[in-house]
Amino acid sequence: MVRAIVGANWGDEGKGKITDMLAKESDIIVRFQGGSNAGHTIINNYGKFALHLLPSGVFYSHTTSIIGNGVALNIPFLVQEVKEITDQGVPTPKILVSDRAQILMPYHILLDTYEEARLAGKSFGSTKSGIAPFYSDKYAKIGFQVSELFGDPKELMEKVENVCKLKNVLLEHLYHQPKLKPKEIFDTLMEYKELVAPYVCDTAAFLHDAIREGKTILLEGQLGSLKDPDHGIYPMVTSSSTLAAYGAIGAGVPPYEIRTITTVVKAYSSAVGAGAFVTEIFGEEADELRRRGGDGGEFGATTGRPRRMGWFDAVASRYGCRVQGATEVALTVLDVLGYLDALPICIGYEVDGKITKDFPTTPELSRAKPVYKTLPGWKCEIRGIKKYEELPENCRKYIEAIEAELGVPVTMISNGPGRDEIIMR
Ligand code: GDP
Repeated sequence: MVRAIVGANWGDEGKGKITDMLAKESDIIVRFQGGSNAGHTIINNYGKFALHLLPSGVFYSHTTSIIGNGVALNIPFLVQEVKEITDQGVPTPKILVSDRAQILMPYHILLDTYEEARLAGKSFGSTKSGIAPFYSDKYAKIGFQVSELFGDPKELMEKVENVCKLKNVLLEHLYHQPKLKPKEIFDTLMEYKELVAPYVCDTAAFLHDAIREGKTILLEGQLGSLKDPDHGIYPMVTSSSTLAAYGAIGAGVPPYEIRTITTVVKAYSSAVGAGAFVTEIFGEEADELRRRGGDGGEFGATTGRPRRMGWFDAVASRYGCRVQGATEVALTVLDVLGYLDALPICIGYEVDGKITKDFPTTPELSRAKPVYKTLPGWKCEIRGIKKYEELPENCRKYIEAIEAELGVPVTMISNGPGRDEIIMR
């Protein structure tokens, strides 16, 4: 059984928590896209962790964690992340890295940083983890695949020289920065070879066998639908697909094996980086939601920067579920909203005087204004509640209103950051 756990919004929906929770009953957890640019916050019996590259199932000794071929693999970062969790008492996890994963190089991070600086006020709000330069190189066919580390060193060196030639034009003439030296790049690759060697595996073949053996496999997405380069708010998106469908490619499993698409939807909105955000709120109203949000405020797990805040956006979330192919919804951080007298839900966008329920393309999105309906608050703490019927009536009404807008069953309600704070419906 393959199940994808993906986000319907702008990321930070709480996928890490849901993955950590579902991993208890799973055998294998796979990261299939993205890199160390976003973080998943997980709170469990070992403590609080911000994972960036490791799958969120890494805390159980019965699970295998896979870095799939679709990931931007920062090798020293991976090694460091393993050290950080084991230093905090987590048993050494079983990790496999795809031999077809590509390597995020130090110059990707430099180029990302220089480009953000060059764009200045018009930047994308990149986390400067090298993601856009990495994926650009992958598709320009000048990236380094893990397997190449174990191939002919002469051929590798030739490729390194070609890459340096290309990169140095940009470094010298556009960014006015020091040039890359082929020997140094080659030596870095050889260091990476040693670091990654214990983990390398044909993970697609491993997953193929696991499917045949009836193992339970989770594909863990990073960011959310609206950051997808094809279906999101281009160009304010990430550089690899955030959709469950890409899980088939970025992990190497047949698409028809992904039977369940658990789409994580946040009970309010938050976003990082630039881009249109129709239900965004500001001032004291936003500060209060940001302060109360998540497990200790809505601040980026990678950058620490304050997240942009907004009311629940049913137009964006329905679209987010649709492009994921959601078969069920996990609604998260609902407990945060107990302080509000009234809860606005955006049920339509007004674009050029017309009201629509369809999520528009980026140029129209920038002109969209929210159309709200407001529901009464429940004005109490809902943490600790285990049964749906025990939730306050107004809270159930909020969930049911969201469910009706999404058109997908809400099967899980997360009412706290902890592993066991979940209501199954
Ligand atoms: P991810 O990238 O989708 O895994 O999300 P993040 O980890 O970046 O952000 C989700 C934040 O919300 C984290 O700080 C979680 O600990 C927290 N969180 C997840 N589910 C809940 C919930 O139901 N209630 C509360 N209060 N916090 C939650």
